Amino acid sequence: MKRMVQIGVLALQGDVQEHMAMVEAAGGRAMEVRTREALREVDGLIIPGGESTTIGGLMARYGLDEAIRERVRDGFPVFGTCAGLILMASEVDGGEPPLLRVMDVRVQRNAYGRQRESFEAKVEVPLLGADPLRVAFIRAPRIERVGPAVEVLATYQGRPVLVRQGNLLGATFHPEICGDPRVHEYFLLVITS
Ligand code: GLN
Repeated sequence: MKRMVQIGVLALQGDVQEHMAMVEAAGGRAMEVRTREALREVDGLIIPGGESTTIGGLMARYGLDEAIRERVRDGFPVFGTCAGLILMASEVDGGEPPLLRVMDVRVQRNAYGRQRESFEAKVEVPLLGADPLRVAFIRAPRIERVGPAVEVLATYQGRPVLVRQGNLLGATFHPEICGDPRVHEYFLLVITS
């Protein structure tokens, strides 16, 4: 029997349980990752939303940043959402946490301002079918620039919100709290194809 795809969720801070539930809903097996040892056991990693300064600081303290970078060099799939995307970016405006710098994008933290700090929206993702995706933007970053190797999979108000660079996937929104597992299913596909 084929082994189920094992997806790690970086469990330092942020929306960990919600991502684990979505991974299972998408047909994968979810596992919390807090150590370099655990990182070796998974086929892909989700870096959840939360506070990028906190997650980045803990990641560096536990030596997970270098371990993730090393695996990414060998094609390891990583999906960063919101704060997770900030940590993957090569450049960050608005206060730079300790970064992985694995994805050729520039992001602006907390770009939607106070009034609209958090909101739900329907985002069209042609790749995932005609039905728009209901997602939440929570003190979300905005992607200001994408490099030539980066594919824009979805935009919202004219800006990229879901991007892919090889086996790396990034979303400025939270795909884990509105009950639609299609982005997680897509990440599973990135891992298995
Ligand atoms: N505003 C947070 C940051 O800059 C990200 C918010 C989130 O992940 N929902 O780290």
